[in-house]
Amino acid sequence: QVPLKPGRSLMDWIRLTKSGKDLTGLKGRLIEVTEDELSKHNKKEDCWICIRGFVYNVTPYMEYHPGGEDELMRAAGTDGTDLFDQVHRWVNYESMLKECLVGRMAVKPIAAPKANILMTLLFAGVLPEKKVLATSSAKDLSPRLSSFFFLFLLYPGFITSYDWFQTDSLITIVIYTKQKDMDAELVIVDCQDKQLRGEIIMDDHSYLVEVDLDHAVSEDVAVNIAEKVGKVEIILSKKDNIHWKMLGQPREGHNTFIKRIDRGLFFRKCKLVSKTQVTHDTKLFCLLLPKGTHLCVPTGQHVYLKQVIAGTEVVKPYTPVLPFSSLDFEEPPCHDGVHIYLMIKIYSHGLFTQALDHLQIGDYISVSNPEGNFKKSQVQTSEDLFLLAGGTGFTPMVKLLNFALTEVSCRRTVKLMFFNKTEDDILWRNQLEQLALKDERFEVQFILSQPSKEWVGKQGKISSSLLSEFMKRSRRDSKVLICICGPAPFTEQGVQYLKDLGYSQEEIHAFTA
Ligand code: FAD
Ligand code: NAP
Repeated sequence: QVPLKPGRSLMDWIRLTKSGKDLTGLKGRLIEVTEDELSKHNKKEDCWICIRGFVYNVTPYMEYHPGGEDELMRAAGTDGTDLFDQVHRWVNYESMLKECLVGRMAVKPIAAPKANILMTLLFAGVLPEKKVLATSSAKDLSPRLSSFFFLFLLYPGFITSYDWFQTDSLITIVIYTKQKDMDAELVIVDCQDKQLRGEIIMDDHSYLVEVDLDHAVSEDVAVNIAEKVGKVEIILSKKDNIHWKMLGQPREGHNTFIKRIDRGLFFRKCKLVSKTQVTHDTKLFCLLLPKGTHLCVPTGQHVYLKQVIAGTEVVKPYTPVLPFSSLDFEEPPCHDGVHIYLMIKIYSHGLFTQALDHLQIGDYISVSNPEGNFKKSQVQTSEDLFLLAGGTGFTPMVKLLNFALTEVSCRRTVKLMFFNKTEDDILWRNQLEQLALKDERFEVQFILSQPSKEWVGKQGKISSSLLSEFMKRSRRDSKVLICICGPAPFTEQGVQYLKDLGYSQEEIHAFTA
């Protein structure tokens, strides 16, 4: 992030887009853009970028871009889709840049499909092997065997298929993932208004079942998982006890197995059920998932919230925590599977957090599927866990702490270094101190960068000396994991200090955007 000039905030941008000013220079005309034409618009004062086939004139946006002009210029005159996906796939550019739309890229002749494209097409049911969504059973899969064999050669271990059957009252959709250690966090189901969406996460890929159901079902959805064999069952209750001839009509993403990064974010509306003050500027928001949703946010992952602010869709990431009664940490985490708790700092000039703060109990807000590259196995195999948090960078540490202290048996120590400006900024201070008293494996240290005169604890900013003093291993060669999260420069500097102290890349996990 770079500091933006005054008058160049996101709100200012939204105002400019609503002002009726011609931001493309084309007086509202949409044109077809060739690659040749695109490449000519590669200067700051004339900069076009293509994202997913649509071309935008981003020159008016330059000064408003939180990542800075240079970052935007990396894609000038080219297809910036990959770059965009790497940095902020979650930003709703269609809404943010709609007034900058120049037009579509001209269609190029299609080259012969490559193997992996072929695979996607097959899973998408586009090739002739596609089965209509009639009642299918194991025997119906046989005509597809040859193509499955072909796919297996291309992608061993990742062949996923689905099947469905019914009783008088239930519809059961069975997905065979062929993935061992399948667990509930890898299955996300949404069933509302006859629309069913079931997504299964398999490493960096996702498999999707997405249909308009043939008949109405009740809002209760059950998910059963046979972990060892990787079988997932989604069980729906029929509203009427009639025999279904087919499951329903396939939607766009139905029966596809693609990279997660290529799957758009899916949002469902959640109800705000409570808002509790944590510190002077930070609140705990409790959101209720819809009845037909099955979703558990894994440790170390975040979700995106979406709000329409002044007519523009704005999306921001937040990391769910546990309710603080769970900070007891004697029992394994109680994911009730129904609520999502978010600890959010309200910035006095923050576009999104101000809007969040204005939500009333009973209002709805859109919440995405979980994302993030943290793997719990990193915690499972380490003996000493060091957590370095700055401000709300504490949020991913909450579930991590809980997981490390309740579910990992080889754990020797968990140490949290919590950096804040003042005493009043420390989140859940009492709970953390209580926990340290109760569990001898856990230690917490608060470090203040702007302490009052009365503060007798540590002070300063993250530094090599503070880190080396605090981060003592329980054994000379113990297996260590260090997790760090906070303001971007805090995290960047922290990682550098850790490397200077001799910790390897594998021993460090930095939570970033
Ligand atoms: P903006 O309108 O973007 O900014 C307005 C002003 O607020 C800025 O000028 C600055 O003074 C201040 N400000 C805004 N953002 C930041 C920032 N990131 N750091 C320091 N000052 C800032 N926040 C939480 O409170 N809880 C979370 O659990 C959480 N999880 C996150 C997870 C990820 C993966 C990431 C990348 C960020 C997370 N954030 C979290 C930050 C959050 O996404 C927003 O950046 C934040 O809420 C500010 O949004 P805003 O629109 O209100 O502020
Ligand atoms: P803050 O209160 O502004 O700062 C917390 C502490 O970090 C303060 O002591 C502050 O010291 C210090 N700090 C800030 N910049 C620093 C720097 N350059 N070098 C060293 N220390 C620095 O923090 P906040 O407002 O709560 O913001 C939390 C941040 O965490 C946000 O940027 C948010 O996006 C991020 N976050 C990320 C994730 C994720 O998963 N990626 C999750 C949650 C939060 P001084 O300001 O006094 O210097």
